[in-house]
Amino acid sequence: FAFKGCQKIRGAQIRILLEAKDFFLFDCDGVIWHGENAITGAAKVVNALIRRGKNVVFVTNNSTRPRENYVNKFTRLGFTDVMLDQIFSSSYCSALYLRDVVKVRGQVFVIGCEGLRVELLEAGIPCVEEADDPDATIYNCALAPDVKAVLVGHDDKLTFLKLAKASCYLRDPECLFLATDNDPWHPLSGGRILPGSGSLTAALEVASGRKATVIGKPSRFMFECISSQFSGVDPAQCLMVGDRLETDMLFGSNCGLDTMLTLTGVSQIEEAQEYRSSDLTTNHSYVPDYVVDTIADFLPAFEE
Ligand code: PLP
Ligand code: CA
Repeated sequence: FAFKGCQKIRGAQIRILLEAKDFFLFDCDGVIWHGENAITGAAKVVNALIRRGKNVVFVTNNSTRPRENYVNKFTRLGFTDVMLDQIFSSSYCSALYLRDVVKVRGQVFVIGCEGLRVELLEAGIPCVEEADDPDATIYNCALAPDVKAVLVGHDDKLTFLKLAKASCYLRDPECLFLATDNDPWHPLSGGRILPGSGSLTAALEVASGRKATVIGKPSRFMFECISSQFSGVDPAQCLMVGDRLETDMLFGSNCGLDTMLTLTGVSQIEEAQEYRSSDLTTNHSYVPDYVVDTIADFLPAFEE
């Protein structure tokens, strides 16, 4: 399209693009909602795409909830047609990776929230039980003998003991080192931020001298999960819509998808333009093909 290339599109251009694509991948936070609040118009857009027979999936790096919770959240926020098989979270994809790709035998040591463990257990992957012993330290605690992977996700109850145990397990070169995602931080309201699981993974990378395998965006694995669960997914027919250049646009680019930045989240159009004019060609993978202020800009395209 003549209008392709890191610029805001509107009206007829959006209509043409939506008609041309048949598979839409939406990031969640910053595109669909901010925390517990839906982005204005997002539910109408998603419902309209689904009713028009488009394939719609959600790709989120948030590993803290099992997929069922996302279905409930979508329903609660007015997205009436979203089902379990449309949700690809970094926790669900981590479970698929452990079960189907590495076929892990033994236990997984999890740094993460309860939702991550639930997702692993549903896939039949045993996790090391954390004893609730306030006196336990790395000097006196027991280490499980058969830990075959350390998986790091967002953990709001992180302790030094968990980091220390994970570091011990990672001494074994046979023990895999996985991260649900590598997000550095997440915006909260009022100018606050939440350190992301990338910051926890970084601590363990230093302690272990190893590099984690990342499951979530921008790694291609999430798209492989989608391709294996939907038949005939053609990257040329897909549009990846996200708010963060370093995860969502890079993910789309890594998977050969057209990308769209929406300005309701983390990244600004100026950052995209800086990447575009950078001499470093690897920076060009962060540049979106299209930009909109919000996905609510799709709405006029559905009017007759
Ligand atoms: N992980 C956590 C813990 C988060 O709170 C968020 C966003 O709020 C994310 C990941 C990013 O989610 P998404 O990929 O849907 O933007
Ligand atoms: Ca996001």
